[in-house]
Amino acid sequence: MAALFSRRPERRLKSITSISDREFGDIKVTRAHTSRLAIKIEPNGAVEATIPRYATLISLRALIDKNRAKLRRNLKNLPQIKHYSESEIKQIRRKAHEFLPARVDFLARRHGFRYAKVSLRNQKTRWGSCSSKNNLSLNIALVLLRPELIDYVILHELAHTKHKNHSADFWRCLENVLPNYKNLRRELKKHTTFLK
Ligand SMILES: [Zn+2]
Repeated sequence: MAALFSRRPERRLKSITSISDREFGDIKVTRAHTSRLAIKIEPNGAVEATIPRYATLISLRALIDKNRAKLRRNLKNLPQIKHYSESEIKQIRRKAHEFLPARVDFLARRHGFRYAKVSLRNQKTRWGSCSSKNNLSLNIALVLLRPELIDYVILHELAHTKHKNHSADFWRCLENVLPNYKNLRRELKKHTTFLK
């Protein structure tokens, strides 16, 4: 018995699953160390949920049903996702190639980060990533954002060359080079990565 009570809490890893809803389609469900169920709408219109680790999916479905009208209304009020023609995407890609690698190089030199190479993609769900070999990958849609947001994404990925996670050390490293990163991070969430 004593052993049972003295057992240290395990580090809780997030686990992700999904449910299918007749109206909202596939809903990504993240189980996390939280005490309540939460539903949110991503800028691209995807409905996502975060639920306590041991909550049932039935309770989530009940919550969705209860909030169905409100969710429907919020989805309708989402800013329209602009659709780009093929030639517009070509232009965006060209602009991205002209601007982003040079900006990465500039910011890396200025703040003392080392990376291997930069590749540019038309990614659907993320602004950027950093591989274990410190290869950065950036979304070409970045060039549609204001410069401070572009720098936020680049510095975020450069900070990953030193910390391969989102630990407190990572955020401290980012804050050192970009003191207002929190506001920029919040603002970035309002933009969609989706270019199509
Ligand atoms: Zn990150």
